[in-house]
Amino acid sequence: MSLSEFALIERYFRKAGAMRSDVHLGVGDDAALLQSPQGTELVAAVDTLVAGVHFPHGSPPASIGHRVLAVNLSDLAAMGARPAWALLALTLPEIDEAWLEEFTAGFAALARAHDVALVGGDTTSGPLSATIQILGHVPQSTALLRSRGRPGDRVFVSGTPGDAAAGLAIEQSKLATSSDPDGYLRKRFLYPSPRLALGDCLRSYATACIDVSDGLLGDAGKLAHASGCGLQIAFADVPVSEELVSAVGEQRARELALTGGDDYELCFTVPPSEVERLRHNLPPQRWGYCCIGSLSEAPGTVVTNQGSVIEFSHSGYDHFAS
Ligand code: ADP
Ligand code: MG
Repeated sequence: MSLSEFALIERYFRKAGAMRSDVHLGVGDDAALLQSPQGTELVAAVDTLVAGVHFPHGSPPASIGHRVLAVNLSDLAAMGARPAWALLALTLPEIDEAWLEEFTAGFAALARAHDVALVGGDTTSGPLSATIQILGHVPQSTALLRSRGRPGDRVFVSGTPGDAAAGLAIEQSKLATSSDPDGYLRKRFLYPSPRLALGDCLRSYATACIDVSDGLLGDAGKLAHASGCGLQIAFADVPVSEELVSAVGEQRARELALTGGDDYELCFTVPPSEVERLRHNLPPQRWGYCCIGSLSEAPGTVVTNQGSVIEFSHSGYDHFAS
């Protein structure tokens, strides 16, 4: 490793996360030494963002730093886990200090907000991409899995899905900037909020949970499938933001909420007998979630609107193809 790389790591990465007493050795040696709390399971996930694939070329560096951590935190939220440590593998086409400054600022703000320490990583040269490996904890045998839903369980989603897909379309000039006067939708794509506090609480209520990254319909379908169930969704109950409705109209807003991507919300199931306790202890208005349907015995996904079944092709579809 050359001195300049060493200086780079010292300058940008050594202090980019939270300080934690369970980090016995962080950035600087061949590997980090970390102490897990007793009575917990270690929870690990990794996700990569590639320029031109997961974010448009020329995205704000702070957004890339934020998002690469946020998408990983979202995976831990979906497990009901608390994050602790992150490792960052960064591939850079060139050393651009202004870019690195902003990237680490975006990363550090979110890391500190969730008490995540940056304990190591790798820095290489090549086409721009960023990978985070996230590590966290969950009390022994309490993690939320995708596979424990049961027929009859109510299906919930947090937040207002679809915003980020519209925000990305605006970033890509596929949707007019004037449809997002306050930049709300763009912000929902560029700076998603991982639902860690909700995931942490849901261990006491939910039978199954998944984070919504590839479109609500598809991801809820994955949960249902993993649970050996089918999925019934009431189109009219799918939550949409006022901003999304003003940008694309109500019908299209709900379609986007079901099939757009990059939401990083939580989709979870709760048995009917537990719904009242959930609503009482975690008031939906405050926690921002709502019921969109239920799991069924019969396999497959059915979306209904005023009694009739609506056909959806599948997610991964380019909503704003020009
Ligand atoms: P090695 O050759 O042993 O892999 P490196 O030169 O790649 O060591 O890295 C030196 C130290 O800096 C290591 O502790 C590594 O974890 C850390 N590091 C390298 N790149 C990053 C990064 N992008 N973010 C955080 N830590 C990093
Ligand atoms: Mg290395």
